[in-house]
Amino acid sequence: MSERTDELRKSLLRAPKNGYDRISAAERTEMERYCKDYMKFMDAAKTEREAVSYTVEQAEKAGFVAFVPGMKLAPGMKIYRNNRGKSAIFAVIGKEPIDNGAQIVASHIDSPRMDIKPNPLYEDAGMAYLKTHYYGGIKKYQWTTVPLSIHGIVAKKDGSVINVRIGDEPTDPCFIVTDLLIHLSADQLKKPTAEAISGEALNILFGSEPIADDEGADRVKLAVMQLLNEKYGIIEEDFLSAELTVVPASPAREIGLDRSLIGAYGHDDRVCAWASFEPLLTMDVPAHTAVCVLADKEEIGSVGVSGMQSQFFETFMADVCEALQGCLRRCLERSFCLSCDVSNAYDPIYAETCEKRNNSQINYGIALCKYTGSRGKGGCSDASGEVMGRIRRLFDDNGVVWQTAELGKVDQGGGGTVAAYMANRNIDTLDAGVPVLCMHAPMEVVSKLDCYMTMKGMKAVYND
Ligand code: MN
Ligand code: MN
Repeated sequence: MSERTDELRKSLLRAPKNGYDRISAAERTEMERYCKDYMKFMDAAKTEREAVSYTVEQAEKAGFVAFVPGMKLAPGMKIYRNNRGKSAIFAVIGKEPIDNGAQIVASHIDSPRMDIKPNPLYEDAGMAYLKTHYYGGIKKYQWTTVPLSIHGIVAKKDGSVINVRIGDEPTDPCFIVTDLLIHLSADQLKKPTAEAISGEALNILFGSEPIADDEGADRVKLAVMQLLNEKYGIIEEDFLSAELTVVPASPAREIGLDRSLIGAYGHDDRVCAWASFEPLLTMDVPAHTAVCVLADKEEIGSVGVSGMQSQFFETFMADVCEALQGCLRRCLERSFCLSCDVSNAYDPIYAETCEKRNNSQINYGIALCKYTGSRGKGGCSDASGEVMGRIRRLFDDNGVVWQTAELGKVDQGGGGTVAAYMANRNIDTLDAGVPVLCMHAPMEVVSKLDCYMTMKGMKAVYND
């Protein structure tokens, strides 16, 4: 190898480097601090409702105020709007006129799980169960025989709303979906994994002690209903207006002997939500107004009043524009949105599903995903070369370790994010986020370095 070709190689060829070869000692300390706070958020926020309560509480402590239409706004003001407790938007007003656009980061705070049906409670063979309907894309067999907790609310007929959270504390009881013993599984094991556990088999084991001194039917069901009534003051009919979800009971954990990874339920997409929210807490007055959107319902198509397709976003932005004597259309046209969502980290055990040259990899930083569709880029928001160029420059200028991502081989996978719905609003949008191993499983895995670099990237986007 001559000096000349060595020079050529360095100047012409792309040479991705592991993030650990690029991070300073001081940054590693900051990374650990950031990840500790992130894990705390994950243990507190296992549902979109809990994510909204937690972020709103943190924001208020940092000086954010609830925005009401008509409120006077000025540069440096920190505002938020809570959308029915299930999604939220936070903003820091910038120095530039709002017609010059906002710097937006949009992520989602809902994750795949099992929702309890409106008529859930039944008894069979001396055991009480709750029926569920799973939410989002799950491999059903992964959700059996793992400890589960129940989170959510019960809206009673008198208008009161009861908060429910059982199963996360070590002293709490938890719940489980049973699976068949191996000894009797000859037929089950012959089925494709998608069919081995049916949707109607995802029933939560809820109790087994029958009520005393009674010879009537459903004694176990009656006994657990009595316990629920004592603790929450609810009756069976109240399930009809409840929103209860079943999620893994385990807390976030450090993974690996070197503690370089984090295992938790719901990294997708709370790892990006936290990365986009946390920098706002300590932010100085930005040039452009910084907007952080925490959306719900991404896992089922960004639909509904709390999803990214809802007019809630326009309503908030229009009210902000009005307060700043600006025009919503002008503002959106000149805005930039980073759709912050996780990508699939390359897993060498399943190498055949990915194209290694274009897949994101653990510890190589935040992954920029030009498009998420497959088989001809179906249904995706394909960011322009110019937009990719702008973010390349921004991240390099700010010392953000980044890489590129593609969701599996061309004919294999594909997935959606909120990117398309932001782009539809005439906003330049790019997808980027943290690479995840075993996405949508009860425990997903991310690397601390990628979490930290994603936060650093979002900070750069807000300050661009
Ligand atoms: Mn996602
Ligand atoms: Mn997802």
